[in-house]
Amino acid sequence: MAYEHVLVALDLAEDIEKVLDRASTYKGTKMSVIHVVRPVEQVYGGFGAIGVAGDYSAVMATLERKVQEQAKRKLADAGAGLGVPAERQHVCVGNPASEIHRLSEAEGVDLVVMGTHGRHGLGLLLGSTANAVLHGVKCDVLAVRIGDMEE
Ligand code: AMP
Repeated sequence: MAYEHVLVALDLAEDIEKVLDRASTYKGTKMSVIHVVRPVEQVYGGFGAIGVAGDYSAVMATLERKVQEQAKRKLADAGAGLGVPAERQHVCVGNPASEIHRLSEAEGVDLVVMGTHGRHGLGLLLGSTANAVLHGVKCDVLAVRIGDMEE
């Protein structure tokens, strides 16, 4: 049975080509793309810690908006290459695995395509986004090997 709705998860890093390449084999199937932006405060541990002067919440809002705008532009490029229309290009804020779970259920996705770095040692112990997605997702997952961390 063919898949009906494929969700491609992209971290927008330099090595997304293999994931895009594999995802392109599903062209013709309904497809969505997702990139999850971590909340700015979570990334920087709060600007209080690094001493941002001025209106703290205004600085946060501006930075968050810029990060999301940049992500939208990059995701639009990647999505266009796969023929994904703008309304199915999702930039979400939060934890990547949780957002991938949430969107795939909300949109009736039956295959998630994502990358995996094939980590060893400490990286394996700490887990990866691919591991986190696998634990809890209700549909199939295609984990595209994009290179080993320790080779
Ligand atoms: P990682 O294990 O975090 O290096 O990421 C492996 C794969 O998880 C990536 O190739 C993407 O498919 C997916 N992924 C990681 N971070 C994100 C993100 N912020 N948004 C969407 N997908 C992501």
